[in-house]
Amino acid sequence: MKKFSLGCHDCGCREIHVFPEYASLGRVTSDCKPWPAGGSLQVCRSCGLIQANTDDKWMAECSEIYASYESNYQSSGVDQAIFDPLTGAAIQRSEKLLLELLRRKLLPARGNLVDIGCGSGGFLRACSLHLPNWDLFGLESAATYEREVRSIPGVRDFFSFGFDKLAGRYHLITLLHVFEHLQGPSAAYRVLERSLEQTGAIFIEVPSCEVNPFELLVADHASHFTADQLVSMMRAMEAPLLHGSDCDWIPKEISLVAGRTKQDTRLRRSPSEIESIIGLVQKHIQWLESVAAGAKRLAASGRRFGVFGTSIAANWLTGVVGPDAIDFYVDEDPGRIGRSHFGKPIIAPAQVRPKAKVYVPLAPVIARAVNERLSASGLELVLP
Ligand SMILES: [Zn+2]
Repeated sequence: MKKFSLGCHDCGCREIHVFPEYASLGRVTSDCKPWPAGGSLQVCRSCGLIQANTDDKWMAECSEIYASYESNYQSSGVDQAIFDPLTGAAIQRSEKLLLELLRRKLLPARGNLVDIGCGSGGFLRACSLHLPNWDLFGLESAATYEREVRSIPGVRDFFSFGFDKLAGRYHLITLLHVFEHLQGPSAAYRVLERSLEQTGAIFIEVPSCEVNPFELLVADHASHFTADQLVSMMRAMEAPLLHGSDCDWIPKEISLVAGRTKQDTRLRRSPSEIESIIGLVQKHIQWLESVAAGAKRLAASGRRFGVFGTSIAANWLTGVVGPDAIDFYVDEDPGRIGRSHFGKPIIAPAQVRPKAKVYVPLAPVIARAVNERLSASGLELVLP
């Protein structure tokens, strides 16, 4: 692996800790497609941000990924369902986020909001339902879903330019699974807040690489956040946090609502903080290597072999063992059951035949809950 690093894409520091072993791990794209090994992972020794080396090679890979991007393609573009690991009950992710914002009384009765990276309008649709007195705007670099987004009641306009060209002032700017894609997230925040009303807020939703090690495998994520990193980054810029310190509204994700910054200061970490961040990443890389090895062993065992899930981790694993090694996928999302995935059927947990083995490539915290719930029904689950 190339040792050269551009330095931290957020604070610009050239002192970087590189994880060379990461380059041999297969990866996955943020729209859930297997992606070959050969990536980079590093930690900035000044601000502590876990990140990719965002060099020309990384930029070229992102262009290739975005050129054929399909958001939520496993459920035909419908907003992704999230599951309560204890009950298995599903709710649309966008609706859940909006209800959490409302529950914390973070939104005025009327106002306007722009959803940056609005995709096919999942979040705007939830806003249309629960914020009837708001003017809604969507921004997305590709115009693929423009007509769909414009047809949502309450949507006033659709923009297909970069967010730095945004005109007007908004009471709420939302970045749902966008912030981790940006080079220089602190600077991007400073650009965005220029479009905020004085009392406005920016709502950021990102995956947590601390809770979910698989997040580190996403090839087109420039940054891999922990809740502590995101909160500390905002505190360094003196952006008021409007949600207190509760960030875990959705399992494996980080939710943050902040106001206008008071200064343009980059976070600086102590040497011991840097060492503990490096330790976390090392532990996660080792765990991912063991998950890959476990799946390869199981695939070679000759038993009928299924994989639990059809999202990031399952699709990464498909790339690792090869789609031919997998006989079926198991999913609890009714929108996915009955479909096929890499040419193999997606079945419900109750449809798994006796003696078949189901590998559960889920973040440990989720895997345990799923295991407790489903093993009661006689399913033979294998956890990493
Ligand atoms: Zn840095």
